[in-house]
Amino acid sequence: MNIDQLLRKNIANLKPYSSARDEFAGSEGVFLDANENPFNEPFNRYPDPYQLKLKTEIAKLKQVEVNQIFLGNGSDEAIDLLFRSVAEPGVDNVVTIAPTYGMYQVAADINNVEVRTVNLDNNFQLDVDKVLSATDENTKMVFLCSPNNPTGNDLDRKEMMRLIESFDGLVIVDEAYIDFSEQASMLNEVDSYANLVVLQTFSKAWGMAGLRLGMAFASAELIAVLNKVKYPYNLNILTQEKALELISRKAQVDEWIDILLKEREALAKQLQKLNFVTKVFDSDANFILVKTTDADGIYNQLVEQQIIIRNRNRVILCDECLRISIGTPEENKQLMDALLKLEK
Ligand SMILES: *Cc1c(COP(=O)(O)O)cnc(C)c1O
Repeated sequence: MNIDQLLRKNIANLKPYSSARDEFAGSEGVFLDANENPFNEPFNRYPDPYQLKLKTEIAKLKQVEVNQIFLGNGSDEAIDLLFRSVAEPGVDNVVTIAPTYGMYQVAADINNVEVRTVNLDNNFQLDVDKVLSATDENTKMVFLCSPNNPTGNDLDRKEMMRLIESFDGLVIVDEAYIDFSEQASMLNEVDSYANLVVLQTFSKAWGMAGLRLGMAFASAELIAVLNKVKYPYNLNILTQEKALELISRKAQVDEWIDILLKEREALAKQLQKLNFVTKVFDSDANFILVKTTDADGIYNQLVEQQIIIRNRNRVILCDECLRISIGTPEENKQLMDALLKLEK
């Protein structure tokens, strides 16, 4: 894959903003270069535009090179930057699966890029040949999500690999829920495939949705493009500090994942028994999709009891389906108590 051919011309030619911190990156000295206020330490200082300290720790954690990591204000920033970098508005298109995460469509709409959707099969699996036949010479990206939201299942890894090998635009694999899955991450393929982008996030297993920290992993060449297009100081100091702190307590995160996986299994068994649940789909994520006899009714009655789940009725292939995030053992019990009341 030739990256210059992939990029929009204006992006290939873009001269990025040069910040004061680009010119001098040391941490010792008298800093009179960025028009900062000398008072109110430490928030008076601009954050590191390339987040090197945090990336060094993430590189160790994920077994990748620092220059293969992009960090953004949520994965949503990476998704938007990919559109702005490679997809020419009104000309290029992207392919996504359906049903899937809504942000690919929204980012495409904002950037005036056509989206072609290819339905998953009845087992919510990927049909690579259908995806390939939806592409043409203006297709710049294919978005996959595994484990997929809202269906909860892993996409077949061999099929994803077949797509990466046969499509010469970018294949984005969104792994927001990978920490809850037994399937191996696609991260270790980033070295071998220049057209692969893997997205992960601190919003789910890491419990940091409010701090906004998303990751994109790809070739150093593509990461350099995203760095060039992003806002210079896209990650604030607090987010970087809190993420470093949580990485130093990774055992805590593993414990949360353990609890959530046990709860997922227990909740799936209990949901199965409800007389208005017709199917509990297997989950490789921290939520469960269930098919019911009356999704709107159940949703509304739960809201009345101040229990909020996601109604996915009206999403393609998800008729009468509800999506339930796994909570604490106590929250899951409250949910089940409320659902059992509805059986009567
Ligand atoms: C929750 C979620 C994300 C996370 O997005 P952030 O912007 O990092 O919070 C990304 N992709 C999918 C599929 C999700 O469900």
